[in-house]
Amino acid sequence: MCHWRRVQNTYKVCGHAYDLPDEMIQCDNRYCKFSSTHPSTCVPPGCMNSCWQYRQFPQQYNPRIDAICPRCIQAGRIP
Ligand SMILES: [Zn+2]
Ligand SMILES: [Zn+2]
Ligand SMILES: [Zn+2]
Repeated sequence: MCHWRRVQNTYKVCGHAYDLPDEMIQCDNRYCKFSSTHPSTCVPPGCMNSCWQYRQFPQQYNPRIDAICPRCIQAGRIP
């Protein structure tokens, strides 16, 4: 199902965390109203019963990167 992906990178070396812009993740489920494979002939009221009408709750990703963050590198704070 289509959903937003929210990514926050955490840099382990300096401990800083940065939010990345939200990303729209598309699915290819024909029973999802937002999908590119959803048939254009599928319209309400039928679509309301057969298809997902809402995007799923955003998925959170919190990768921990074993490095120093770009801002600290720019500031010359290299350990
Ligand atoms: Zn979808
Ligand atoms: Zn539909
Ligand atoms: Zn940092």
